[in-house]
Amino acid sequence: MTIKEYVKARKVELKNEIASLKEPLNFVIVQLNEDEASKAYIRGKLKDSEELGIKARLLKLPVSTSQEELLKEIDKLNHDKSVDGFIVQMPLPKQIDEETVKLAISPDKDVDGFHPLSKLNPCTPQGIMNYLKHENVQLLGKNAVVIGRSNIVGKPMAKLLLKESCNVTVLHSKTSFEDMYRYLENADIVVVAIGKQHFIGDKFKFKESAVLVDVGINRDENGLHGDIVPDRKVAIQTPVPGGVGLLTRLALMENLLKIKRP
Ligand code: NAP
Repeated sequence: MTIKEYVKARKVELKNEIASLKEPLNFVIVQLNEDEASKAYIRGKLKDSEELGIKARLLKLPVSTSQEELLKEIDKLNHDKSVDGFIVQMPLPKQIDEETVKLAISPDKDVDGFHPLSKLNPCTPQGIMNYLKHENVQLLGKNAVVIGRSNIVGKPMAKLLLKESCNVTVLHSKTSFEDMYRYLENADIVVVAIGKQHFIGDKFKFKESAVLVDVGINRDENGLHGDIVPDRKVAIQTPVPGGVGLLTRLALMENLLKIKRP
């Protein structure tokens, strides 16, 4: 099933589950930045919420908001009984420390799953795992390579793959070309989250049975591009656009429902 088909089918199930709740699901998105990418992500999240019958509200704060003011707003949302879950759209303006903000959000309302005590996983890796399982990708004992070690994608992705008993290798900017080549040619599952357009190109070889998950989002005048050159000869390669971005959006809605009905 393509990612688009999978997301469409899963949304129908989610919509029914949400409709069966006794009370509506209330979601708040806090926005500070006004960049095009943040605006597009927020539009997507509001659209998904509306489609699924979730009551979503946008709390727009000025780009000049101080960290102290933002922490006050977060505290209000943490204590507001009418709010089931909320997110602060990243990235944040320079004057605000993202890690402090992630830790200020109550783990009980942390839809993004960024807080170390949150019972939920960050949406991108969780969305990818859900899709791999749906596609019956064999994980146990398989060689999984994650390229990128950020706190929101690479590291939690590696943790989730390890939980499924994959043999996990995490590569990063200090990995040599020779080592990357060697790990990739032996990989069964590859997750690339670097942020460099088509970095994984023809110079690398893959097993024909490999599953390639492209997390990268790179924008230019022609649109969005992934970190992997498209149409490699493998079993599955997730497209960009129409790939991991959709899985991430879906996982956010699933996380919100999990808060209400753990
Ligand atoms: P990030 O915080 O910038 O981390 C990038 C990682 O890539 C770092 O660990 C870095 O290594 C590694 N890296 C950079 N250059 C490399 C190279 N030449 N070879 C190997 N590794 C290299 O980025 P992120 O937040 O994880 O996001 C990564 C990409 O995914 C971005 O394009 C972002 O837009 C996209 N993304 C997409 C979604 C989605 O829903 N589709 C969600 C989140 C992110 P070091 O640690 O050594 O510096």
